[in-house]
Amino acid sequence: MTIGIWILGDQLHLKQAALLTCQNDRKDTPVILIESFSHIQKRHYHQQKLVLIFSAMRHFAEDLSSQGWQVTYKVAQNFEPALKDWIKTNKITELRLVTPYDRPFLNLIQTFNLDCQFKLIPNNHFLWSQTEFKQWTDSRKRLLLEDFYREGRKRFNILMDGEQPIGEKWNFDKQNRKPPKKSLNPPTPLWFEPDEITQQVIKDIKSYNIETYGKIEPFKWGVTRSQALQVLEHFLANNLNNFGTYQDAMITGEYTMWHSLISPYINLGLLTPLEVIKKIEQAYYEFDYPLNSVEGLIRQILGWREYMYGIYQVMDDDYREKNWFKHQEKLPDFYWDSSQTDMNCLKQILQQVEETGYAHHIQRLMVLSNFALIVGVSPQAVNDWFRSAFIDAYDWVMVPNVIGMGQFADGGILASKPYAASANYINKMSDYCKSCVYKHKQRTGEKACPFNFFYWDFLSRHQQQLKDLGRMNLVLANLKKMESEELKEIQKKAQQWREKNGGA
Ligand code: FAD
Ligand code: SF4
Repeated sequence: MTIGIWILGDQLHLKQAALLTCQNDRKDTPVILIESFSHIQKRHYHQQKLVLIFSAMRHFAEDLSSQGWQVTYKVAQNFEPALKDWIKTNKITELRLVTPYDRPFLNLIQTFNLDCQFKLIPNNHFLWSQTEFKQWTDSRKRLLLEDFYREGRKRFNILMDGEQPIGEKWNFDKQNRKPPKKSLNPPTPLWFEPDEITQQVIKDIKSYNIETYGKIEPFKWGVTRSQALQVLEHFLANNLNNFGTYQDAMITGEYTMWHSLISPYINLGLLTPLEVIKKIEQAYYEFDYPLNSVEGLIRQILGWREYMYGIYQVMDDDYREKNWFKHQEKLPDFYWDSSQTDMNCLKQILQQVEETGYAHHIQRLMVLSNFALIVGVSPQAVNDWFRSAFIDAYDWVMVPNVIGMGQFADGGILASKPYAASANYINKMSDYCKSCVYKHKQRTGEKACPFNFFYWDFLSRHQQQLKDLGRMNLVLANLKKMESEELKEIQKKAQQWREKNGGA
């Protein structure tokens, strides 16, 4: 029997589950990595995401060879014929692959007709297995992140003092919502110069005749495990101290604030979640970093990241098609081209995404996603855009974050109320409004901020549904108090804006 291992572009860890099954037989175990050209034609991708994945794969293939594995690296039109060819040449009788994290890809490979056995190995890249998460969901009525996170803290013994959380509280979020101050000076992120392999990938991508999104250069992301570890160390030394306090703040020209920038690496497998969590915890004990920052970050990885993956796995296939508000509007064109909007917050963030493929959580949730939600864009169109625009986008993480959290299209499985906000929030948490042509306090009139008229229009369009959620009662009471003339004016402005910006 000859076992062969196929490694996907987001499974780049030397201790990933399929490689572990053949650790002691490396010399006799053929391993393959494939860049499929037809796969990258299926949708628009950020050019830097393509560079990141292909360069990381090419570097990983070198690492595997230096560890004694028999590696084949193929640039092919399609996965299936490339696999068949390699299986035949190497007389492989059993192909092993870590179960893909993305369900559409899992469905695709199950249609392959290969001339050998095909064995899927459960992944070891998430802390909770699918079965464990399912057991957790079956044991409760509400799927609250907070409950899941506490369970994770206990299960993996992170920031615990026996059965109690360190600091006597599970959550320090109240300390983590400080607006930006004038004198804030966020740390410089750690970037890298492209090496020869990355330069070659950049040339390759430029030579392909495919529809893409964003700028390909300057490309500054790390592409190896060693660089990913450097990014993590840089973060621990320079950012962790203040991570929590300004977690939600946004400043013009400051793309990354105190955020970690590790999502592209952790999602590819270049870092593992548990090693990141352990290092953060260790930094807390060694350097006495503020608990609000340390706990705040651990919550993101041990809580949110695992929870989103778990939800994605247990939901029915039609979860991605959900549309609780029945939103049908088209995504405004400026999401694909930042130069087409004069709304400063959106322009700044969209420009940043075009340049880097990155925006931090609040930029994604409270500006990019919030605006699409209150305009009434179809959740599926929003999901498609996020998948195209971000360096760290994968189906498993986009679907729950965009459909569930950002667009509330699941009607409240994931969030207890929609993340909808007016300009008031953006003005409080950023400096964007100061340089904007629109007035953040106005909801009618020529210079009224579109976030304002769309916010009130959204509330009035969906007040029946929102009433049932309970948590929206305060804002709905304010809506009731609004003069009917003003509400009419708001609705008119919203409609005119949609017509001008190519709504459905
Ligand atoms: P930090 O703020 O430093 O957080 C540390 C880590 O926590 C992240 O690297 C990530 O691994 C994890 N994390 C935090 N929140 C989440 C979350 N909600 N879901 C999953 N992991 C989380 N994350 C992606 O990895 N890919 C995406 O395509 C993506 N799209 C998003 C779309 C929307 C609408 C929203 C609201 C969130 C999205 N997120 C996505 C989650 C989160 O915004 C990013 O993980 C984070 O901004 C990445 O930057 P960072 O590494 O600097 O994060
Ligand atoms: Fe954005 Fe409105 Fe503020 Fe302008 S005024 S930056 S559009 S929130």
